[in-house]
Amino acid sequence: MKSEIWFVTGSQRLYGDEVLNNVAAHSKEITGYISDAITANVDLKFHSVITSAEAVSSLCKQATSEQSCAGIIFWMHTFSPARMWINGLKELTKPFVHLHTQYNSRIPWSEIDMDFMNENQSAHGDREFGFLVTRLRKNRKVIVGHWKDKKVTDRLDVWVRAALGWREFQSLKVTRIGDNMRDVAVTEGDKVEAQSRFGFSVNGYGVGDLVQFVNDVDDSQIKSLLGVYESEYALDKNTLSSKSLFEAARIELGLRAFLKDKSSMAFTDTFEDLHGLHQLPGLAVQRLMADGFGFGAEGDWKTSALLRAVKVMDSALEGGTSFMEDYTYDLNDDGSLVLGAHMLEICPTIASTKPRCEVHPLGIGGKNDPARLVFGVSSGQAINAALIDMGNRFRLLVNEVEVVEPPQDLPKLPVARVLWKPAPSMETAAETWILGGGAHHTVFSKAIKTEYMEDFADMAGIEMMVIDKQTRAREFKNQLKWNEVYYHLFENRL
Ligand code: MN
Repeated sequence: MKSEIWFVTGSQRLYGDEVLNNVAAHSKEITGYISDAITANVDLKFHSVITSAEAVSSLCKQATSEQSCAGIIFWMHTFSPARMWINGLKELTKPFVHLHTQYNSRIPWSEIDMDFMNENQSAHGDREFGFLVTRLRKNRKVIVGHWKDKKVTDRLDVWVRAALGWREFQSLKVTRIGDNMRDVAVTEGDKVEAQSRFGFSVNGYGVGDLVQFVNDVDDSQIKSLLGVYESEYALDKNTLSSKSLFEAARIELGLRAFLKDKSSMAFTDTFEDLHGLHQLPGLAVQRLMADGFGFGAEGDWKTSALLRAVKVMDSALEGGTSFMEDYTYDLNDDGSLVLGAHMLEICPTIASTKPRCEVHPLGIGGKNDPARLVFGVSSGQAINAALIDMGNRFRLLVNEVEVVEPPQDLPKLPVARVLWKPAPSMETAAETWILGGGAHHTVFSKAIKTEYMEDFADMAGIEMMVIDKQTRAREFKNQLKWNEVYYHLFENRL
């Protein structure tokens, strides 16, 4: 089902039919323009001009119950007395954005009269609406500027994409194959609270449930998948004919069938629970991520769910998104760097060149040598995002980073890798990340910027902390303390 975003204009009956007809015509024109300007895969529809409390209630009930509605854009072309919005907005569960714009861009100096002023008064009409939404303590994004301004439509596109990610959360099923990597803390959390807060469910399965699907794969399917590997990746003859790659293909086909059977677009595994699998799924996980699946290693269901949401948000954007882990540092006086990687599972959507498909020993886990894609990532801006469970709330941490090319080749490193310089510096970024309780697993994206995550956190109603070029450790520490008080007073779930 294609998602819809509804454009709704607030007004009142005071101005007469002529003004209301203009308001509707302008609203349709603006909806059409925005619909063409944004890149998100969504039907942007003009819904109505709202002039009564009954109409607000019926709109909000309809938006809440219609599954296809991912969110609403509100705009007050004229004044719209906001008490009529109270009862309806209290019932609205879908995200909304307040577009603070006006139909004309410039004041028609020589023509302007009181009729014009009455028709074009969003400057104060939107303030009345804004007061009420703030009075109701409802989260929303506010975007200011003329509707033809690219900065405005770009910010709307960001919000729409975040709303699509949020919509995905409402029905997402995260498949947890095996449990948590034993004794690890940050990958754990409250799954009941997560479902209540975010909508997604986390469902556990034994590895044996997956193994059955893997064993059911027949050799002809494997042979044709090996052909796909050969065409998509740099692959030498020995690897192509190896038992390891044959097994990796079997695991991929089994895993795909298993996830399809569970109607699941996100999953986790752990190298500690692999009974009946001959190797840790590496290539399979990488290829599933490239197809939009969320993934978290070592049982990390929060990162898996977040990755799936970001994969929905970044649809058709350049740059790619992957599961990631801060692995090791290059500490130096010119700006220390982080080398990000994982044992195997980095998504090839972030690859700078055609990935090489290779087979190497893993070093831990005691299983056969797994196949994996090996590649680097080209320079550019990116973010690392982590969702953590603080016990009384969820916190989303975002660090803005700059991907840099490695100063030298890494000929002996048999995994995909990214080198980045975190903002404001590795030292402050790591200090604040650690003080904020940030995980070692992240969602790494070159496609999605901080603003998407901010909109997403607002929709979820969760805490968000950003580490960017303005971050100072002392202020960050104080923010953490203030937030502790805020969430204790208003959002405490314990
Ligand atoms: Mn890990």
